[in-house]
Amino acid sequence: MSRIILHIDMNSYFASVEQQANPFLRGKPLGITGKHQERSVIAAASIEAKKLGVKTAMSTWEAKRICPSLILYPGDPEKYSYITSQFNSIFSEYTNYVEQFSIDECFLDLSKTVADYLEAIVLAQTIRERIKKTCGEKITCSIGIAPNKLIAKLCSEQVKPNGITTVCKQNVLKFLDTCKLRDLCGIGNRIENRLGSLGINTFDQLRKFPLEKLVNEFNSYGYWLHESAHGLNDSPVINTREEPKSIGHSYTLSENTEDKNEMKNCLLGLSDRVAWRLRNEGFVARCVHVIIRYSDFTTMAQQQTFTEPTSNGLMLFKIAWQIIEKWLDVSKPVRLLGLSASTLSKGNEYQSLFKKERKVRSLQKSLDKIQNRYGSDAWTRASLIGVHFKKRSSGFHSPNSPSTM
Ligand SMILES: [Mg+2]
Repeated sequence: MSRIILHIDMNSYFASVEQQANPFLRGKPLGITGKHQERSVIAAASIEAKKLGVKTAMSTWEAKRICPSLILYPGDPEKYSYITSQFNSIFSEYTNYVEQFSIDECFLDLSKTVADYLEAIVLAQTIRERIKKTCGEKITCSIGIAPNKLIAKLCSEQVKPNGITTVCKQNVLKFLDTCKLRDLCGIGNRIENRLGSLGINTFDQLRKFPLEKLVNEFNSYGYWLHESAHGLNDSPVINTREEPKSIGHSYTLSENTEDKNEMKNCLLGLSDRVAWRLRNEGFVARCVHVIIRYSDFTTMAQQQTFTEPTSNGLMLFKIAWQIIEKWLDVSKPVRLLGLSASTLSKGNEYQSLFKKERKVRSLQKSLDKIQNRYGSDAWTRASLIGVHFKKRSSGFHSPNSPSTM
């Protein structure tokens, strides 16, 4: 039986995520760059920037010359992988076969999920809407539906943004004949030139070219080219989603400190961050680990297990603080604090019978929605007002003003 494979590709991904997070950037030509903008290349361009001629991998200098109104904005890899984990978890609700191909591309094998291509299209529409609802209106994707990964990927390229393109088994050859050789994932410039020198410029010519000669020229890759020209590819969709064993963050303080209040603030920030990720990935934890690194780089690590699984930031903080009160060596200043939650299981916290607790949880839900949409600095606890976490691997975000060069 023919398989039904989806390839989902986010449109102008990094730029869309930034436009979603910051309304100021919407509708404007935007280029996402590396850290050092002047010496960087465009990692992603918004739809508006693409219309004005800006292309991915262009130097920022060149891009600015072509499009002087281009806003350059440094990329935030952690933000992107967070959104990626969000849509990946939507996908895995529909199938166990979700293969992350890159940060903004996934293959899904829906052969066991849907009966036919019509159902696959309906599901693709649902998935597209759910991504928008969860990650924001600006996060759009193009979807290809086909009997294998190769053709599905080629399909998703057809309509951007927001397209759904389907090619069923019977139409694969007809579809291939409308594409260029280099459109196929696996045929680069060099291969295209070598094929050209053999007089092969179209899929039809490649199909008719004797297999032996192809193998002579390209070795085993020749078989792949021959099969591809016939629209054949049986590589499976491999599930790349692994369940995490723990979720944690650490933070290096801007100055070493002996001030317990400062440690408390840092730990509370870490707890909120870890709890947010737990809830988003649908986990509750039954163990908290705390790491303290002192100014002399000695490290203390302790953990505590508890009976009631939780994904509540304040709860994690309370347990973590108990650990610190018990184990902190007050004779040495602290340099880094880390907190992680482990013994994870899928599920929600127990329904509480207490009205106050239920209120806190419903507030938490609303805050999560705000945070998911506007980023991790969209809200903070009153006790943390004025506490600025620097943007580091710990994942705290400081407000970033867009810059024009
Ligand atoms: Mg993309």
